[in-house]
Amino acid sequence: MSRVAYVNGQYIRHKDAAVHVEDRGYQFADGVYEVCEVWNGQIVDMPRHLDRLDRSLRELRIDWPMSRQAMEFVVSEVVRRNMVHNGIVYVQVTRGVAKRDHFFPGSDVAPSVVVTARSASPAVAAAQAEKGIAVVTYPENRWPRVDIKTVALLPNVLAKQNAKENGGKEAWYVDTDGNVTEGGSTNAWIVTKDGVLVTRPAESGILKGITRAVVLDLVAREGISFEERPFSLEEALEAREAFVTAASTLVMPVVRIDDTVVGNGHPGSVATRLRDAFHTATDLKAVVA
Ligand code: PLP
Repeated sequence: MSRVAYVNGQYIRHKDAAVHVEDRGYQFADGVYEVCEVWNGQIVDMPRHLDRLDRSLRELRIDWPMSRQAMEFVVSEVVRRNMVHNGIVYVQVTRGVAKRDHFFPGSDVAPSVVVTARSASPAVAAAQAEKGIAVVTYPENRWPRVDIKTVALLPNVLAKQNAKENGGKEAWYVDTDGNVTEGGSTNAWIVTKDGVLVTRPAESGILKGITRAVVLDLVAREGISFEERPFSLEEALEAREAFVTAASTLVMPVVRIDDTVVGNGHPGSVATRLRDAFHTATDLKAVVA
């Protein structure tokens, strides 16, 4: 079966899918995106992702390319046509195609929309979660509007590549106050040496992750001792546990930060418990085959 992508109103073969050279996403990173998990033939937390897409679009003053109901249909349809049972679905909306000029184009220019989906092996992810990952710290160097999920990810690309070249799977940004903000494509959490789960508030410096929101619901439901506050790298290095969250990795234990082993070097019990319970706290929309 060949993969299918949705591009501006058409379902086409993935290998032929393309946008125009003057798409503003391509030329200015003038666009936003979402990634939803597909789990057991169901799209996870689509309403929350579309709410965040709506916020990102409003912050950048880009129009919705279609109604929300139509977007829900296209997202499901791309998952269905690609026969993705477990994996991700990606949605990108840019300000559209116009002669290269920094100013916004006129209202006659429609936003561009692309939706793709791909399968991922739950067994591979589970094996990774059993071992945990290493993260490599990186100076926070992004713009202050990281709350908007834009496609302008060059700093994240560089931080993650640096992590990879230094034996890590993820980067952890550290700001000038010495606090960990978030990962290159994940939110960051620790369990302190006193057993308190901590993550940074989403008011500034981080993307308000949908996976983070689900974990917060779980934490409240399970009565886990929790504080929402900034935490320093120093505190993280002494933590009992650490983990990251994202739609593509769910709850992923962190067992090493730079050269320091976290806790006993194995995934911690809080991370494991949250990962195991994760889908009990999500909104699941079945994709009808
Ligand atoms: N932080 C950043 C910078 C991200 O890119 C992502 C996901 O792509 C996240 C956090 C996690 O967000 P979510 O849980 O919605 O996937």
